[in-house]
This record gives sequence, C-alpha cells and structure tokens, in this order.
Amino acid sequence: MEDYHLPICMACYAVRVEPARRYLKRPTCAGCGETEARAVRHTIAPLNKSNYMLLSREELKQLNPKRTT
Ligand SMILES: [Zn+2]
Repeated sequence: MEDYHLPICMACYAVRVEPARRYLKRPTCAGCGETEARAVRHTIAPLNKSNYMLLSREELKQLNPKRTT
C-alpha cells in the first residue's frame, strides 16, 4: 500500500484520491468527482468533449473568418 502520499480529496477532505486522479488540478475522490462533474458544467472535463464535438468543423470555420480552408 503506497497510497499514503496521494493527495486528499479537495471536496470532502475525508479520503485520499485514487492514483489515477492525483494529477488533476483539483484532485477529488471518485464520488466527489462525479458529484462535481454533474454540478459544475463549465469545468474542463471529459464531459465537455460532447460539447466540443457539437461544434463541427464547418462551424469552427465560420467562427474563424481568416481561415480559408
Ligand atoms: Zn471526496
């Protein structure tokens, strides 16, 4: 067991985060991470990928008039 050096969850301060989550800007345990992902929509999270995908390449072109291709 080497989890003693893992950061503590920044949301509940009760448990240490999972090793996979320790390098997040705001490391949280799995439970809190899920809760926050639902509550805070504007953070940079994998969830935003779907929003990103909604912006198609055609739309991106329109947003950037200098680009000709
Ligand atoms: Zn937590």
